Amino acid sequence: MIFTPSKLPGTGTSIFSVMSKLAEEHQAINLSQGFPDYDCDPKLFELVNQAMKNGFNQYAPMAGLPVLRELIADKVNTLYGASYHPDTEVTVTAGGTQAIFTALASTIGPGDEVIVFEPAYDCYAPTIRMFGGLVKPYIMTPPNYAIDWDMVKKLFSARTKMIIINSPHNPTGSVLQEKDIQALIKLTQNTDILILSDEVYEHVIYDGREHLSISRYPQLRERAFIVASFGKLLHTTGWKTGYCIAPEFLMKEFRKIHQFNVFSVNTPMQVAIANYLKDSSTYLGLSAFFQQKRDAFRSMLSATRFDLLPCSGSYFQCITYKKIGHESDIALATRLIKDFRVAAIPVSAFYSRNTDCHVLRFCFAKKQETLEKAVESLTKL
Ligand code: GLN
Repeated sequence: MIFTPSKLPGTGTSIFSVMSKLAEEHQAINLSQGFPDYDCDPKLFELVNQAMKNGFNQYAPMAGLPVLRELIADKVNTLYGASYHPDTEVTVTAGGTQAIFTALASTIGPGDEVIVFEPAYDCYAPTIRMFGGLVKPYIMTPPNYAIDWDMVKKLFSARTKMIIINSPHNPTGSVLQEKDIQALIKLTQNTDILILSDEVYEHVIYDGREHLSISRYPQLRERAFIVASFGKLLHTTGWKTGYCIAPEFLMKEFRKIHQFNVFSVNTPMQVAIANYLKDSSTYLGLSAFFQQKRDAFRSMLSATRFDLLPCSGSYFQCITYKKIGHESDIALATRLIKDFRVAAIPVSAFYSRNTDCHVLRFCFAKKQETLEKAVESLTKL
């Protein structure tokens, strides 16, 4: 029998795969993994088709098609007043998760400590550990998942290499405010601490809030990888396209890894995306589009015995369930699938110690009828 030690002994299968599979087995409405159940703009299909027919079927340049990198740089400059050079500071990636992986792979080494706000998106911790890094979790709790920066400060040590932030936040839907950003500036100034800013829901933010991209702040931008996702922008999560922007000294290291992992992202999609996003209304209307879904979903859920947590951004609605009972979030999520045919994500999966605050996450990037059918069933609980 051949033996090889696991590089990630404590890690199982991603909660998204687990819940989606279970949902499929039980023919449940899948509000667990975050993806739309409706098609993207048909114009995008035409643009991809056209790109394929026009011969864009071979490797793209390693960093991404120049037209797309230029478009990204222009977009960031227009929205956040930050200047990134398309040749040296922008890289197109195979989705947000790959960008996060590569940013961590290119900077984290044995003994490096990384501050992570939990509940945290599930890929951060295993990726940090894969490269010998140590996760230093700051635990956020419902209902507001607010951050006490004096407590965050206590997590800092001489080994702190990076701090990961994520706003709008998955899974909680919370959003960083100016006071959080100012605290982050204060904590990192005169240090070599890097920032990884997961901004994949930058265009899904509600009630007139402005997305406070790290790129807006020179003191943070100079030390940050910022990760974004076209999947969220275009309702095409399966296209696995996104990008990373960072100052040249960081991007240089990022690309050293990227070239031997992904090499380059598929070409026709990049051509299509570059053409499509020339019209900024395609993404500037996204918040209004999802706000309507959020409001409809929240109002429907008021007929259930769940208690709704705030949702200021992202396409996730979290709930607590003390009127229903004290079972674990995993037990309830499993029961929901098996007995009520609705799938959700138990938020304990996003804590490294599986802290169970009795919270479930529902994705509302779904057709109105899907949400109605799901809630109709949830009202029976
Ligand atoms: N981002 C998606 C979510 O939060 C999942 C992506 C994945 O399955 N890796 O549900």
